[in-house]
Amino acid sequence: MANFKFDVDAEGIALITWDMPGKTMNVIDTSVMAELDTLVDKVAADAAIKGAVVTSGKDTFGGGADLTMLEKQRTDYMTILKAKGEEAANQMVFEFSRRLSLIYRKLETSGKPWVAALNGTAMGGCFELALACHHRIAADNPKTRLGLPEIKVGLFPGAGGTQRIARMMATADALQFLLKGDQIRLDRAKTMKLVDTIVPAADLVSAAKTWIKTAPKVKQPWDVDGFKLPGGPVWSKMGMMTWPAANALYRKETQDNYPAARAIMSSVFEGLQVPFDTALRIESRYFAKIVRSPEAAAMIRSLFVSMQELNKGARRPASQPQTSLRKIGVIGAGLMGAGIAYVSAQAGLEVVLIDRDQEAADKGKAYSANLMAGQIKRGRAKQDDADALLARITPTPDYNALKGVDLVIEAVFEDRKVKAEATAKAQAVVGDTIVFGSNTSTLPITSLAEQSKDPKNFIGIHFFSPVDKMMLVEIIMGEKTADPALAVALDYVRAIRKTPIVVNDSRGFYTSRVVGTYIREGHLMLTEGVPAAMIENVGRMAGMPVGPLSLNDEVAVDLAWKILKATEADLGAKAIDPRQKSLLEEMVEKRGRYGRKNAKGFYDYPQSGPKRLWPGLAELQKEKLDPDTIDVAELKHRLLAIQALETARCFEEGVLTDVREADVGSILGFGYAPYSGGTLSYIDMMGTKSFVALCERLAQKYGERFAPNKLLVEMAQKGESFYGRFAPKRQKQAA
Ligand code: NAD
Repeated sequence: MANFKFDVDAEGIALITWDMPGKTMNVIDTSVMAELDTLVDKVAADAAIKGAVVTSGKDTFGGGADLTMLEKQRTDYMTILKAKGEEAANQMVFEFSRRLSLIYRKLETSGKPWVAALNGTAMGGCFELALACHHRIAADNPKTRLGLPEIKVGLFPGAGGTQRIARMMATADALQFLLKGDQIRLDRAKTMKLVDTIVPAADLVSAAKTWIKTAPKVKQPWDVDGFKLPGGPVWSKMGMMTWPAANALYRKETQDNYPAARAIMSSVFEGLQVPFDTALRIESRYFAKIVRSPEAAAMIRSLFVSMQELNKGARRPASQPQTSLRKIGVIGAGLMGAGIAYVSAQAGLEVVLIDRDQEAADKGKAYSANLMAGQIKRGRAKQDDADALLARITPTPDYNALKGVDLVIEAVFEDRKVKAEATAKAQAVVGDTIVFGSNTSTLPITSLAEQSKDPKNFIGIHFFSPVDKMMLVEIIMGEKTADPALAVALDYVRAIRKTPIVVNDSRGFYTSRVVGTYIREGHLMLTEGVPAAMIENVGRMAGMPVGPLSLNDEVAVDLAWKILKATEADLGAKAIDPRQKSLLEEMVEKRGRYGRKNAKGFYDYPQSGPKRLWPGLAELQKEKLDPDTIDVAELKHRLLAIQALETARCFEEGVLTDVREADVGSILGFGYAPYSGGTLSYIDMMGTKSFVALCERLAQKYGERFAPNKLLVEMAQKGESFYGRFAPKRQKQAA
């Protein structure tokens, strides 16, 4: 066998060690399925074998299904669909979907005890293998995570996971676990009874063997007569207390946008009402449908394939030697600088954190101390970790401390003069050969670069707030930024384990420019007379994490006003919308409503209790539309289409040069409807032709801002898609 080692000891216990050649992590692919199938038969058929322990030869147990195998399913489906019709194609996908599920079922009903000896992380289909085993023992390893995260790429556990989990815990907990795709630590897994025992790593296999020798069980609880569902039957008092609430929660969390989440609900609901084998069949049916859904395809592509490629340096100039950073300087220890210092120190880098005086610099470091205290409280870190991390941050007002740094990141006030001064002071110490990054959110990098000693070495390194949580970093190339600077910036982002996108300089770069159109659309809806609550709800219904008015409150209403005024001053009156201008002027200048920061924005933020929409908004609306006459689907289209269209413009203008970055950046940067796969995938999923038709219709009704750009019109005429016409180089090479 290529993937497994099979040894039987003197006492007749088989040890199966999963160790795929040429891979750092075990995954489930067709060869693994075939070999597992054989192994299960072998253990069952050989009377001399008393039971089996399955473990891994790698650091982790296994990462889940090989997603490229699932991608291939989709192409095979299309081929069979064309050649033999829909029924044959559906049949093929269904048989494929059942394959692993049937192997696991055969394993758990083989009459021999199976133990999963989990030496490390087990995810997805690999964790489902453990769930099918009669016992689960885990090595005590703080790095281990267990979970069924398929939902995060638009799939769901299709190898019995939904049915076993729903029979191992209360239904509400099971749904939560499946729908969230949480990756949990061992202590929590033990409490949830997803692992039976945790032992020192050295004892893992012997403990598993002892269980087989001393107390083996060969039947799963659900195969024992008289088994009772922990959450009670669906049609019972307990079930009735669970399901209506679960449905409401499902709607609230997903807005019914994720077919995979709906399939989890249906699989569990239907599966719990029938015998286990039928339940597995139901799960496979849903899986067959989901695996070929456009949402799964788009999410796998953006959130798995493309994200991994970007993380591994898809955009790094190959000619540049790898740099390894040891020490960085961060200037400005405010909200952003403090966050940047924290994530850098967490990655093991030494950080010199500079502010105007010692007190301000110390305050920046205290931010890390606070975050670490929180981690310790939650059992995620030890005092030693906190001490080591804090020891790496040196807060000081003295620029001389920057001597010896490998990179400087500036995060002082958003003011050209202040930035120029900080840059000059730093460069007086570090010289002009060290790469200099600016975290500006609005000032063009090219113009800031002119204030530095050498624009070749000047680059935008744009973080998102809160820095420790947001996974995207937008790297901005100034006109003169050269490849060595890009390489250093990308090496830094890789060191802090975030995902980079590389864009060219433009007003608002990529992310702020596009998300600005979402906020503007919300503002304009308000001026048209759409009730504020409806705007906010529709934003979330469209799949955005928050409504446009909430988002504006978070980033500050006065900032939106400042940006609008600057745009008007630089580009003229035509570049802005007068209705948005008067709304923002009214909010900021006349009413002093700046957003969450002064507890007064589109919302009120009472000291006690949750925020609520500011009642005065209705007063600002000259017209008021009757909500019953408003087309909700159209509002959703407006909110998503305006962002997708702006992305297409960024692409045409060369601000964006890679479709992967457009999509990944939109999801990680501003939460663009993840089920769509991102802003450009949204267009591809709809079809360029239909998208252009939609934009033209909206342009007629709502104005020129919806007019499709030249590139889109041309693509629609030729029947092209973004991923077809601008396929990343990797795909072209493979073709
Ligand atoms: P902030 O006001 O919280 O922090 C700025 C810090 O810089 C302050 O501590 C100030 O004392 C310090 N400072 C000012 N002049 C200095 C100087 N000459 N030398 C050293 N320190 C100096 O602001 P922030 O929100 O952290 O923003 C910093 C930068 O990051 C801005 O350019 C902003 O546009 C950008 N940014 C902010 C966000 C956000 O969400 N807040 C997001 C992305 C980018």
